[in-house]
Amino acid sequence: MLPSAPIGNTPLLPLSALNAHFGVTLLGKAEYLNPGGSVKDRAAVSLLDHYSASGQLLPGGLVCEGTGGNTGIALAMLCGQRGYSCYVSMPDTVSSEKISTMRALGATVEVCPSTASVSDPEHYTSRARSIASSTPNAVHTDQFGSLANMRAHSTGTGPEILAACPDLDGFACAAGTGGTIAGVASYLSSSSPSTQICLVDPQGSGLKNYLSSGSFSKSGHENGLGDTLTEGIGIGRLTSNFASGVPHVHAALSASDLEAFRMCFLLARGGVFVGPSAALNVVGALKFALRLKRLGVVNPKVATILCDGGASYLSKIYSEEWREERGLKGVERCGWEDVLED
Ligand code: PMP
Repeated sequence: MLPSAPIGNTPLLPLSALNAHFGVTLLGKAEYLNPGGSVKDRAAVSLLDHYSASGQLLPGGLVCEGTGGNTGIALAMLCGQRGYSCYVSMPDTVSSEKISTMRALGATVEVCPSTASVSDPEHYTSRARSIASSTPNAVHTDQFGSLANMRAHSTGTGPEILAACPDLDGFACAAGTGGTIAGVASYLSSSSPSTQICLVDPQGSGLKNYLSSGSFSKSGHENGLGDTLTEGIGIGRLTSNFASGVPHVHAALSASDLEAFRMCFLLARGGVFVGPSAALNVVGALKFALRLKRLGVVNPKVATILCDGGASYLSKIYSEEWREERGLKGVERCGWEDVLED
């Protein structure tokens, strides 16, 4: 077994230039500093520990997971360290950088059509489940369904945030599996009940609507992913992880891909190089802080998650060609005054 770098205990960074411009205090949890490069390292450790402690994952076993990419990287890294094999399936929207990283770490990678609906055997989550059930000594770690995912955040991310900022006014974050927001929200609701929790929902996702109406509208996104170009977040169904956090979420707001992409460059030009979901979280945290300010909170302190680093998206938002093909020319020249659409 090779030594592993520590996961968690990441710094909570004040986003100074943005804070100075808007008169708020946004704090970004620098999850891109985890050894696998994302917040999903935390969930992956918790899932592997859970399945090995329960006796479902035995030495030398095969770990199977359907992933938006980062959980696959985290599991591939940990499986290498712990002597397991790793199979990951993912939609064809995942960046080539993430796929190459998983393969370099020794995982078997299957890319599935993003057009498949969640009930389709070709959907990336169905493939992981089916490989696990048809292979001896294999386990499906089920990051959407297993609450070991959110526990990584109720016992790790949440307490770390509150220790770094004991007088936190708000926490705002988007959901993929929902593990991060559910875990942080459930911890804060008992340890800091005055902290307001806000879901940030990307375009095409159904969670904001679910929170207000209790149901998902038929939006034509049966693949469960929505139509956002922001990888790893946005969902059109209720996962067990997100459901466990619902009682602790006080507010919800939307953020667009355009806002997230503009924020990517504003952060990068200030020396914080992150992926689009991190940037979308910052957009949401900013909107939520401005809302709290309008309600009379002076210089509101709002924390969010900087989920992963920008290097995984050099072939996507950080590629001039990719931006031009999608009509996003010029997003890199946006100023603070133009970052929000409304
Ligand atoms: N951002 C990225 C890039 C991700 O890969 C994920 C995980 N799907 C998230 C955000 C959302 O995290 P969670 O699954 O804990 O909701």
